[in-house]
Amino acid sequence: MGRRLLLPHTRRLMLFLRPMRYSASATATATAGSLRDPLHVCVVGSGPAGFYTAEKMLKGREGVRVDIIDRLPTPFGLVRSGVAPDHPETKIVVNQFSRVAANPRCSFFGNVTLGSDLSLSELRKTYDVVVLAYGAESDRSFGIPGEDLRGIHSAREFVWWYNGHPDMCNLAPDLTNTDSAVVLGQGNVALDVARILLRCTTELASTDIADYALDALRSSTIRFTWLGDEAQYRQLAQQRNYVKFWVITKCV
Ligand SMILES: Cc1cc2nc3c(=O)[nH]c(=O)nc-3n(C[C@H](O)[C@H](O)[C@H](O)COP(=O)(O)OP(=O)(O)OC[C@H]3O[C@@H](n4cnc5c(N)ncnc54)[C@H](O)[C@@H]3O)c2cc1C
Repeated sequence: MGRRLLLPHTRRLMLFLRPMRYSASATATATAGSLRDPLHVCVVGSGPAGFYTAEKMLKGREGVRVDIIDRLPTPFGLVRSGVAPDHPETKIVVNQFSRVAANPRCSFFGNVTLGSDLSLSELRKTYDVVVLAYGAESDRSFGIPGEDLRGIHSAREFVWWYNGHPDMCNLAPDLTNTDSAVVLGQGNVALDVARILLRCTTELASTDIADYALDALRSSTIRFTWLGDEAQYRQLAQQRNYVKFWVITKCV
């Protein structure tokens, strides 16, 4: 994968100096069976939604060309930065995605952000079809007083941190100030977080967890992790001087 990781100043040129053979917008070309051959598709986002879309497009229409762009230099979205490092079997899907990327009619352009490097209208002028598959990258606020105090993190932040996501590698959660962590939520992400906090670091060392996260977990004093729901969180919030490390697992 990553066979076309471009420098920031060249990638934009690559996208726009290619022959502009298609003038119709995505909306216009996607109607009334007027799609051109070969169809040129842009998929924004290289997570599972982006890659499955690319795969279907490449298989479904002869000659179609697919460009996948992502704001990160590396592909695979939350498969890389969400799924826990000690669950490698879940990450095996990247092999399938890598085969899609290896298709000569598919290109990956990393470090390209829709909204700052490129606008949607620019993409629609350049491609026949534009597919937005950029995932969900923000957190839901509960509106509870103290929610933004130090030591309280969203699961997105914490999970991105231990997975080496470039936006969160400086999070530096304080794991040495308490022996207890509260994880609000009881779903698979909550269990991932609890397990990573408590798992033996010798075992974690053989995974692809970020090195700095492994170092921090090695010196962690957290020995207890409480999994709770929102009502319990509201009660525990009263004790926040006692419990100093929280992870809230709700995303939008
Ligand atoms: C902690 C955690 C654990 C999980 N564990 C599992 C599991 O075990 N099994 C399972 O099946 N699912 C799991 N999931 C869910 C799964 O990861 C998601 O459902 C899936 O990744 C969503 O795919 P997506 O392509 O919609 O979004 P994402 O995977 O988030 O991909 C979106 C991509 O878009 C890019 N992007 C965002 N904004 C822009 C922009 N403006 N311009 C260009 N690119 C942009 C992002 O960089 C990212 O690469 C987990 C999720 C989390 C958070």
